Amino acid sequence: MTGRAFFEAFINASPYPVFAKDASHRWIYGNHGFEMMVGETNFVGEMDSLLIHPVCIDRIREVERKVLAGQDSLDEETLITGAVLLTVRRPLVLPSGETIIAGVVISIIHAPDTASAGSKDSLRRHELAVANFRKADTERTRWLEQRLELVEQAESVATKAARTDPATGLRNRMGFDLDMQAMMQEPLPADKILCLAFLDLDRFKFINDSYGHKTGDTVLSSIAKRLISWPGVRSLARMGGDEFAILFDHPKVAPHVLVENISLMRQRIFRSVRVGDKLIPVSGSVGLSVYGLDAEDISSLKLNADTALIEAKRLGREQVKLFDAGLALRTYRRHTLERDLRHAIARNQIVPVYQPIVNARTRVIEGVEVLARWTHPQLGVIPAQEFITIATDCGLISALDLGIVRRSCEPVKNWLASGRLRFVSFNASALEIVRPGYAAEVLSLIRRCGVQAEKVCIELVESAIIHDIDRAHDNIRTLKERGVKIALDDYGTGYSNLRALLDLPIDRIKIDRSIIGDVGEDERAMKLVLSVVQLAKLFKAELIAEGIEDETQAAYLEGMNCEYLQGFHFSPAVDAQQFDKLLAQQKSHAA
Ligand code: C2E
Ligand code: CA
Ligand code: CA
Repeated sequence: MTGRAFFEAFINASPYPVFAKDASHRWIYGNHGFEMMVGETNFVGEMDSLLIHPVCIDRIREVERKVLAGQDSLDEETLITGAVLLTVRRPLVLPSGETIIAGVVISIIHAPDTASAGSKDSLRRHELAVANFRKADTERTRWLEQRLELVEQAESVATKAARTDPATGLRNRMGFDLDMQAMMQEPLPADKILCLAFLDLDRFKFINDSYGHKTGDTVLSSIAKRLISWPGVRSLARMGGDEFAILFDHPKVAPHVLVENISLMRQRIFRSVRVGDKLIPVSGSVGLSVYGLDAEDISSLKLNADTALIEAKRLGREQVKLFDAGLALRTYRRHTLERDLRHAIARNQIVPVYQPIVNARTRVIEGVEVLARWTHPQLGVIPAQEFITIATDCGLISALDLGIVRRSCEPVKNWLASGRLRFVSFNASALEIVRPGYAAEVLSLIRRCGVQAEKVCIELVESAIIHDIDRAHDNIRTLKERGVKIALDDYGTGYSNLRALLDLPIDRIKIDRSIIGDVGEDERAMKLVLSVVQLAKLFKAELIAEGIEDETQAAYLEGMNCEYLQGFHFSPAVDAQQFDKLLAQQKSHAA
């Protein structure tokens, strides 16, 4: 299509009448819309009075003279009897230099009898024009209506698309938000509550990585289909990635009953998905919040469900967690600690403290366990287990563990060099012992500090070793080659089994304080201690009993031929100065 033909077609497609006149008020152009309006096709080259009512002509020409002088115009005019046109006119300078008038009729208002009578002939022509105009107008109206309908259809398709997740056909985030706003306005039966559930597949990345993205997509759409049957569902969305959201009503029940019901749903939703001949294992977690319970508006309802979901994941996944205010406090605390831990490590605010380890027979302090302490400026003393877990999750544990070794070197070196202590124990976190290069770093650190490797003991937890036995082996071998002793910490809890003892060159076993605590009260605990003691003897490992809080426990363990004792009965972990005093005290006792 040539340029001109294209523009003609384009202007003809306009639903508005478009026209052009030259400087001497002759018609030089009219599009289809204009032809339909005036009911004439043969007007080009004619004077404008052919189509314009005589009573208007002077006024229109007056307007047009201003337009030709360069002014735009917008005015109401009576072109023909019975109608008022709202017309825009603009001057248009052609390449030849000639100025013409370009006009668009942007609105037609029916106004009967607005024109007074003129000559009979012109009156007839104008009545005809009116009839044509009305006919044309209804056609144009119909056409406009059709166009409008199409636009509306296209719009509703577009709106729907903007609110829909293409992969699953569920609502997307935006659609869900709109639904939530609408639902909040709707009254709820008195025996119902409105709940929000956030659902998240556990380890979806693993599914994608091991089975491919196509399978991942199939898994998502299968989950989406299962979600449709969620009871009381009011809106259902895929919020992105492997996250789903459900707004639903539920009978008013006690919180634990709600959690039980949703737990059943969780199991129905998150079960294996068959893709081709493969059965893909699927699990997922749910965070729940209830409207009106700790949440009075949409944003807190969402925030609470999100907090609950994070908590469900933190608790080991495959869980349903209902938000409660205590949870919010814990989350706040966790966020605060996460935020501040990095600084605390960098600024040496995490300090070593020292807990004596005594010879069970002589009760003389022979060793020390170095433990980390963090006193947060606002939250006070933070339990080691709490910040160690956060440091591990945030990738800060290496800096923390090595920092404790570095910061304790000075006093430890003095205690060892003066013969007041025989050994020092450091904790290695689960991630550290399987990290390549860990052993070399610790060894170089203690060498630089002037601490003899033979007097160092590294305490490990068994779960860490089982996690990646080869890497743990490498580190342990490197440490052992230089004379470092290895202790198995927290023995008698969690993963404890014989495997580690068989596989690893363990020098010491630390019996966990949870077992020691029951000694003297619980027969079975005493039998357990006995079996651990016998096991240690079998592997020629030395025994340290942790968490000794009274003399009964101390005497029992001593009687079992346990080599070392540690616990509040002797001393809690103290700072270096106080530890100095403890050492000095026993020296004066011995003297
Ligand atoms: P753990 O290695 O079993 O350390 C002994 C914990 O038991 C210490 O708690 C100590 O204060 C506590 N304890 C000692 N005697 C008694 C007693 O008689 N009764 C009771 N109830 N508790 C006693 P703490 O300092 O809170 O440390 C907790 C855990 O945090 C440690 O357990 C260890 O797993 C970890 N941890 C502490 N410092 C470090 C560190 O520098 N690096 C790493 N990776 N972990 C550390
Ligand atoms: Ca320990
Ligand atoms: Ca321990």
